[in-house]
Amino acid sequence: MAILKIETLGAEVLRRRAHEIQPSGEDPELDRLIEDMFETMYDAHGIGLAAPQVGISRRLIVVHVNEEGEEPFALLNPRIVEAGKAKEKGEEGCLSIPNISAAVERPATVVVEGLDPKGNEVRIEAEGMLARCLQHEIDHLDGILFLDRLSPLKRNMLVKKYRKQES
Ligand SMILES: [Zn+2]
Repeated sequence: MAILKIETLGAEVLRRRAHEIQPSGEDPELDRLIEDMFETMYDAHGIGLAAPQVGISRRLIVVHVNEEGEEPFALLNPRIVEAGKAKEKGEEGCLSIPNISAAVERPATVVVEGLDPKGNEVRIEAEGMLARCLQHEIDHLDGILFLDRLSPLKRNMLVKKYRKQES
């Protein structure tokens, strides 16, 4: 296993729409990538990581919202098939934008479908932190960052703050 380099704000790969990924059932390369993504996520104390964040423009995410007792899982080609009408605000950060966080409004519940690494269909009915995390990670696959979900004023303020700490 290996800890991968996490791409940060400004990296072009974070703004690209990622390509679909083919599960093959037996794919040592995919298995290793998933292991490395988990290791990278745990090392950075994250609860989710999308492949574009490690420079790979593929529709793959790993998630472990352990505070709710959820098991870690990897999801290929995840998509939101239903979003609840009720919205919820919650604090979000991103491993690609270190030390920056903000309250983001999102649907409180979502239903997500995708494939597990073996190619089996998976359907997840999520609420709370898991729902938030899934929406955040799926956004990454479309080149969207949580900053884009904020008002322009708030976003500019946070980008300035981020640039300041980077320089
Ligand atoms: Zn993120």
